[in-house]
Amino acid sequence: MDVIGITGGIGSGKSTVSDYLRSLGYEIIDADGISRQLTGAGSPILKELGAAFGGGIFTQEGELDRKKLAEIVFCDPAKNRLLQSIVTVKVKEIARDRIRAFRETGEESVLFLDVPLLYETGSEAMCDRVWYVTAEREIRIRRVMKRDGADREQVIARMESQMPEAEKRRRADRVIDNSGDLPGLRRQIDALLEEHTGKGLTNR
Ligand code: ATP
Repeated sequence: MDVIGITGGIGSGKSTVSDYLRSLGYEIIDADGISRQLTGAGSPILKELGAAFGGGIFTQEGELDRKKLAEIVFCDPAKNRLLQSIVTVKVKEIARDRIRAFRETGEESVLFLDVPLLYETGSEAMCDRVWYVTAEREIRIRRVMKRDGADREQVIARMESQMPEAEKRRRADRVIDNSGDLPGLRRQIDALLEEHTGKGLTNR
């Protein structure tokens, strides 16, 4: 059984790739989803985050204000590291447990690990291979503006806060170019699955 990491910058299409793989029956571990669950209402991690970043990171209802937290860590590498040390460590622990459980089923399949900050968090160590999703910069900007109702400057600032594209492309095993349409994206994924499993469109 192999673990394939899926990563890529903001708006590259990671979720779209994961959704397609899921529709084919593959199991996906979604790091962002785990992180949202871990920081859900009443979770013990919220206390740790409150102690580290102050009460200003919560909404009036006591929920985590993710935007606020993102703003705080955005321009401050030390605070960003602090956030990673509280949340990322636990996300990785859970991902590792799920990988172990999947291995124990003895199933000869592929498990996908969708981690936006795969390289930044050292998560490639959990993967046998990495697929890097990307698209032309202008296309990514327009897709994120449309998806999030964000303005151009906000999207560019978020993109530029990430590790440079060239470095990630170099480290990845395969690159998926998502600058085209959805059928084109699916064809690339089908080809990679075929290459990897030798079995084409099915995970069985
Ligand atoms: P983020 O890191 O910001 O969460 P992501 O890498 O998961 O983003 P997606 O959410 O999958 O990216 O894609 C960004 C937006 O672009 C979404 O609204 C998605 O529906 C759209 N999109 C993705 N791929 C294509 C495509 N090939 N053609 C048209 N729209 C696309």
